[in-house]
Amino acid sequence: MSRQGIKHWLDRFVDRLLATGKKRFVISGGMAISGPIHIGKLRGEVIYPSGIARALRRAGKEVRHIVVVYTQDPLKAKERLVPRSFINEWSGVRILDVPDPWGCHENWVEHFFEPYMKHYEEYGITATPIMTHEIYKDRRMVETVRFFIKNRERAREILNRYKGGKLGPGWFPVRPLCKKCGNIRTTKILDYDGEKGLIRYMCPRCGHVGEARLSDVKLEWRAEWVALWNVLEVDVELYGKDHAAAGGSRDSCNELYRKLFGKEPPMGFPFEWVSLKVDGRSLEMSSSGGIVFTMDEWLEVGLPEVLKYWYYVMRPMSHLEFDPVHGVPHLHEEYSRAERIYFGLEEPADPDKIIDIRRAYELANDDKVPPKPPFQAPYTLLAVISQIIPSTENVDAAIEKLRQTGHLKDELEEWEVARLARLLRKAYTWVKRYAPKHYRVEIREEADPAILERIGEDGVKLLKEVETLLKDWEGRDAVKLEEELYSKIRGLGLSPKKGFRILYMAILGRGSGPKLAPLILAVGPRKIASILGRYVEVAAHGL
Ligand SMILES: [Zn+2]
Ligand SMILES: [Zn+2]
Repeated sequence: MSRQGIKHWLDRFVDRLLATGKKRFVISGGMAISGPIHIGKLRGEVIYPSGIARALRRAGKEVRHIVVVYTQDPLKAKERLVPRSFINEWSGVRILDVPDPWGCHENWVEHFFEPYMKHYEEYGITATPIMTHEIYKDRRMVETVRFFIKNRERAREILNRYKGGKLGPGWFPVRPLCKKCGNIRTTKILDYDGEKGLIRYMCPRCGHVGEARLSDVKLEWRAEWVALWNVLEVDVELYGKDHAAAGGSRDSCNELYRKLFGKEPPMGFPFEWVSLKVDGRSLEMSSSGGIVFTMDEWLEVGLPEVLKYWYYVMRPMSHLEFDPVHGVPHLHEEYSRAERIYFGLEEPADPDKIIDIRRAYELANDDKVPPKPPFQAPYTLLAVISQIIPSTENVDAAIEKLRQTGHLKDELEEWEVARLARLLRKAYTWVKRYAPKHYRVEIREEADPAILERIGEDGVKLLKEVETLLKDWEGRDAVKLEEELYSKIRGLGLSPKKGFRILYMAILGRGSGPKLAPLILAVGPRKIASILGRYVEVAAHGL
């Protein structure tokens, strides 16, 4: 086994932190509220850091875990998210002062941050949110702002050595907040009184001329990042790949921190984006652009540990693509496989992966793995079952169906029932909202003459044979039932493709559907027999 395989990548990073000999760590991440908070943003800003925080605590370290919420930022929304007229009206205004475009919250920040506050604990995120508009009021931040302004020439010189560093003479590292209209992007500095700590400014947005204190500003973002490290005493912060390039913004911030503040920058590593598959195209998720799959949308269709497992089993710099249509069941199956591997019930295809898979499974469960291998049912089967039981709240009905299909043989413990109930509702939402038509199940109770015509005489013969087969079928073995179906189809000289098409037509009114044998067992062989029987009858005697 390669050295690389001995430990999971996160534990190797934690080892580097432990090697510093520090007793206490501040772990930070950033959360912009430029739009809905999507699942890609969670990956490196709060999910990985939560795993790091847990590992450090387990190693006996004191950890302060925070996430900086950028409430002092100007509005940067794009048209896909809000109408052009809204952008024209509010662009450049501090998002805390921008109204909620949908009118259901106090302001922009509350609208987009509420889902995060509601759900972050469910994701096992351990970070305490702190808002930048509050940090700016902190005395240490005011001092840092003052320091930056005082050393602005030196800061300009350092930043100009880096890519994109074209800061002109007289550059100011801050923008005052316009008292009158909330503009924090284009205010012009007229004068700075270092003694009093007052900035005289003019606002091109509303024409206001006024004075701002050093707590009513926003630092330019690279200066802001460094100032936050200084004020919050950050030891660990990861960074998105856009900041990662050599000579990129993280490098320039690191140098700024070393040269200006004489401190060592936080340790970290870069992480990649998650893109979203939309209508067959892969798009970068973007909050401001409204291309998102949000953290609450995920919870409606998936277990949080499943998403976390995906993030942890992949390397941080692997680009991930999320596909709501096929990805949701696929990720749940991958998670179930990891669970079986974790409990020694299955071997991984690649034995070198076992450590990564086992540790990713622990991390996905916040280091609290279930006491024994939980009952597993395929996600797509639950999607089917959820449609044929009276209600997704009726978990007993689902359990009965899982017994009929042969998936469930033992008694379930209470926590397993609770997990099944959660997954059942999620699978139902997925099938209604995202699933390919293929998975939709609407059993046809009446014989349809148009379908009868399409399946022809051979078709009726097959329905009759299968009706006889199912009438007295007692078994719960889907594989065996499938073999019997094949044998009936072949016995009539039909191709399997044609034979199954006929059966789907009679049962679902269309030529395809979810795997037929489990579907028959779940609905009930006798019920299917009676549906097929009606066709046979209509064929013989007419309606
Ligand atoms: Zn709202
Ligand atoms: Zn203004």
